[in-house]
Amino acid sequence: MIELRHLSKQFDELTVLHDIDLRIRSNEIVVLLGPSGSGKSTLLRCINLLEDPSSGSMQVGDALWVHTMSAAEKKKAVREIRKRTGMVFQSFNLFPHLTAIENVMIAPMTVKQIAKSQAYEIAESLLAKVGLADKKDVHPSRLSGGQKQRVAIAQSLAMEPQIMLFDEPTSALDPELTGEVLSVMKQLALDGMTMIVVTHEMKFAKNVANHIIFMSDGVIQEEAPPETFFAQPKTERARKFLHQLT
Ligand code: ADP
Ligand code: MG
Repeated sequence: MIELRHLSKQFDELTVLHDIDLRIRSNEIVVLLGPSGSGKSTLLRCINLLEDPSSGSMQVGDALWVHTMSAAEKKKAVREIRKRTGMVFQSFNLFPHLTAIENVMIAPMTVKQIAKSQAYEIAESLLAKVGLADKKDVHPSRLSGGQKQRVAIAQSLAMEPQIMLFDEPTSALDPELTGEVLSVMKQLALDGMTMIVVTHEMKFAKNVANHIIFMSDGVIQEEAPPETFFAQPKTERARKFLHQLT
């Protein structure tokens, strides 16, 4: 589903991602772990081309982006890859003046030119899926953080992505609200969505991930099933990281 080859990212002199090679299969749930500043967000942002990688290539489904492409080819590749990837951030970027259902309808209507009645039906079923059928006409200011994040997930799903990227989706939430968001994500995983999740929720990582990727200093240090990673981390860095969590 996703393949990154020799992907690097520099910000001026600073190399944030070093020669990343990564393959993720369809229906796979990857949890990306690593200390703060290790390049996790930058990696997710490169995958949906919110950041322009400095070298390498990337395939998402049947869309290909290669650093050596011409500007015109890249522009088309960016569009194709964005179509296939949904992203949910730590802070919920909902439109404050739109209701929950309008927030979910807006991208299909404006980007995909889907008719309003059809967009409404899609949005209604997605809000039901994230447990918010009864909040469809409510504005974001009247929703809790957990509810807002679930609307944001429905909003991403409305574009029918082939892969969902989550960047610390529960880090801004009060502890009592993280569970409802994690359970929506878990359900999405069970439904077969391909996902890359950056999170500090180790229980979610242990229970839901098929694969753990551990990064530090812009390098993938370890890649293992959760049972192996948590029981027997191979590198000293990973051991230290896990030790600091407990
Ligand atoms: P993480 O998500 O693992 O905490 P980030 O990907 O956010 O790590 O950051 C990795 C490194 O890249 C950090 O040193 C950060 O300061 C740097 N960085 C991230 N974005 C930018 C940017 N737009 N310009 C310059 N440096 C950046
Ligand atoms: Mg980050």
